[in-house]
Amino acid sequence: MPKAQETVLEIDLKALKHNFEHLKSKLQNNTKFLAVVKAFGYGSDSCKVASYLERLGADYFAVAYINEGIALREAGITKPILVLHPQAVNFKTLIAYSLEPSLYNMKILKEFIKIASAEKLNNYPVHIKFNTGLNRLGFCEKDVHHIVSEIKRTDAVKIVSVFSHLAASEDLNEKEFTLNQIAIFNRISKKMIGKLSYKPMLHMCNTSGILNYPEAHFDMVRTGIGLYGFGNSDEENKNLAPIATLKTIISQIHNIEEGESVGYNRAFKSNSFLKTATLPIGHADGIGRQYGNGKGFVTIKGKEAPIVGNVCMDMIMVNITHIDCKEGDEVIIFGQDITAEQLAETTNTISYELLTFVSQRVKRIFLE
Ligand SMILES: *Cc1c(COP(=O)(O)O)cnc(C)c1O
Repeated sequence: MPKAQETVLEIDLKALKHNFEHLKSKLQNNTKFLAVVKAFGYGSDSCKVASYLERLGADYFAVAYINEGIALREAGITKPILVLHPQAVNFKTLIAYSLEPSLYNMKILKEFIKIASAEKLNNYPVHIKFNTGLNRLGFCEKDVHHIVSEIKRTDAVKIVSVFSHLAASEDLNEKEFTLNQIAIFNRISKKMIGKLSYKPMLHMCNTSGILNYPEAHFDMVRTGIGLYGFGNSDEENKNLAPIATLKTIISQIHNIEEGESVGYNRAFKSNSFLKTATLPIGHADGIGRQYGNGKGFVTIKGKEAPIVGNVCMDMIMVNITHIDCKEGDEVIIFGQDITAEQLAETTNTISYELLTFVSQRVKRIFLE
């Protein structure tokens, strides 16, 4: 791997392939694979990741918002793209880019049908989302009749899938709750299929659902975090490889005498001699202020260097008193040894948040 000469996020496409193949090995042959590439591909690069996965054989993609889907289309993605959380104001654009909406309540369903009819569309693919316990987005069970009667009044749209989302698929203490969500979804989808004259695809599982509930894979699974290398448990993490490594270099080293302070607000005051390294990465790059004052750390020459004082917008200072290093040396923030999950734990958050926080000003480089 090339040594960093500035702050970079290195994306290992071989690791991505490994994760794709590992997750795929958990599925039946005819189960479709939807890759979730929202939030810039969990902070990596949604277009690069989606193009690579399209070549590997992903069947479907999902994003949260319409703009994210447009970016994929402009990058040449041709597979279907599900937009998980569209708003009516963007429906014409969604249609112009052949994106497929998740319709999650009666208001949005009616608005989409209205626009699809005005555009004289025929059988435009839509996805119906049901709430089975997450209480975030989705129709409820008693809406089935109403949904189907709205759909049957028009040729403009066709339901290509019926889906739901698990609330606690990674938490086996909540197994009973999850099994109940699966049972509700089974009941709803039977009702839907009974009333329609065709059978839409059914899907429910995110990454942890794939790993923990093989009985709920249905026709398709939706995987995000697993592709990026995390399985939400130590056991599953062993089979996956983090694809993103956030690296930087040492810009400057300072000797701090007893009684001196480091950084804004003099948040750190030394009570003995120490050496600090200043790094060109700060909260504007994705290292939140909560990692400051000794909570978070970076790795230099395999050793941990805790963050000293407050995190600045463009810089952090780290304690290197115990590390034999010099200006220009490489620094690892997170990667395959110290993972985003481990760093996230120092501030009680999760890999998802740390990964998606890496800002767009950090250069992405790709290892083929
Ligand atoms: C983000 C998201 C996923 C992916 O979840 P992971 O835990 O990252 O695999 C799947 N489905 C929906 C509806 C989502 O919002």
